[in-house]
Amino acid sequence: MADEKKKTPVKKEAEGKKEPEVKKEAPVKKEEAPVKKGVLSWYFNFNLLYRILIGLVLGALLGIILGEKMLWIAPLGALFVRLLKMIMMPIIFSTLVVGAASISPAKLGKVGIRVVLFYLVTSAFAVFVGLVMGSIFRPSAEMGALVAGAAGKAAAKTPVSTVLLNIIPTSIAQAVVNETVLQVIFFAIIFGIGISYLNISKEKRLKTAGETLIVVFDGVAEVMMRMVTGIMQYAPIGVLALVAEVFAKQGSKVAGSLAVVTIACFLGYAIHVVLVYGGMLMVNKLSIKRFFRDAKDPFITAFVTRSSNGTLPVTIESAKRLGIPRDVYSFSLPLGATINMDGTAIYQGVCAIFISLTVTGANFTLGQMGMIIVTATLASIGTAGVPGAGAIMLLMVLESVGLPVVEGSAVAGAYAMILGIDAILDMGRTALNVTGDLVCTTVVSKNMGLLDQKAWE
Ligand code: ASP
Repeated sequence: MADEKKKTPVKKEAEGKKEPEVKKEAPVKKEEAPVKKGVLSWYFNFNLLYRILIGLVLGALLGIILGEKMLWIAPLGALFVRLLKMIMMPIIFSTLVVGAASISPAKLGKVGIRVVLFYLVTSAFAVFVGLVMGSIFRPSAEMGALVAGAAGKAAAKTPVSTVLLNIIPTSIAQAVVNETVLQVIFFAIIFGIGISYLNISKEKRLKTAGETLIVVFDGVAEVMMRMVTGIMQYAPIGVLALVAEVFAKQGSKVAGSLAVVTIACFLGYAIHVVLVYGGMLMVNKLSIKRFFRDAKDPFITAFVTRSSNGTLPVTIESAKRLGIPRDVYSFSLPLGATINMDGTAIYQGVCAIFISLTVTGANFTLGQMGMIIVTATLASIGTAGVPGAGAIMLLMVLESVGLPVVEGSAVAGAYAMILGIDAILDMGRTALNVTGDLVCTTVVSKNMGLLDQKAWE
């Protein structure tokens, strides 16, 4: 059933293309192909990453040079935010249900539990690294001129027991309507596990029902992926408008703070690789040098494609060369491409602090940081391994600490700034996401005596 996970458009695109890894940029081109000859062909045929970067630079320049005269562009930015928010709930619900349903109760045996635990613990630690980096660098931008619309920090004084109880919805409909993300995540996981039990039922009626539900939710997830790809075509314009609005109000003051966010994220990524991945390999007496000799291919592919799913065929090739048995990697790598996102988790920690400092001028309380660790870890499970998905999940993390992204609010302005540099941050975090999957798969194999030691000689 883990196969269900592989059926994302990105994965399909990447499959069957063994040669030039760089071609895995293809998911973007695939969407661009149909309009090759239209009036806008120059736009759609141009690499999306470059378009977004151009949108960012152009938006900043227009905002700085034309100042308030550029404010007419604000609705185009609001349009982008609305489109992203529109798909947030369905995307998280459908991918999580399919994700949870993919782990059959039988597979939740030795390998499954270890892999999932490893993924969750490293992701939680990654958020912690992100929060530490954010707290050390304290990136923030002057946002005084933006309309202050951010909610306060009401969650701060809530007792832990209430916070935990609040994860369980009393009404799922209400949770969806109110966008109480943690509650939706909780329900989606339980629902997915329920489906996986139907799937192993001996009763034909129940088994068929389970399989049908997976097909339905997988279909919804597929549609969502396509919608993300479509919306991302608008990203360059949305980013241009959002950034222009910010710079029109703030001038060039914010450029420096974005550089600090980027440095904090990449330093966090590097620390995680050295401390967590290096440490795990060393503790298990595995040569770090030998590991990266084969892990560098998926690392580079992920960096270029910004998609864990798209990189999956390359990751699997590396796993084979590292002497990992098929039973382990065929389960853990597709699962990891969807649920294990350490880079994304670090990014969320840093960015949440940037947004809080920018909007409220204060860092989070320890309680709120705990909430961010829980939400961001769960969010990384629900983050599809496609370009830019982490930025959508950041919306959830922000909501969980009372900083919802509302049009025209200061939070939306700060979020827009992050979106402007998201492509750059996404390259690093995806490379880390994929490396984490491979480290986990290697360590679990070694741990269970399943690793082919000859491959390491
Ligand atoms: N691009 C990331 C990945 O595919 C997800 C994200 O946007 O954080 O792993």
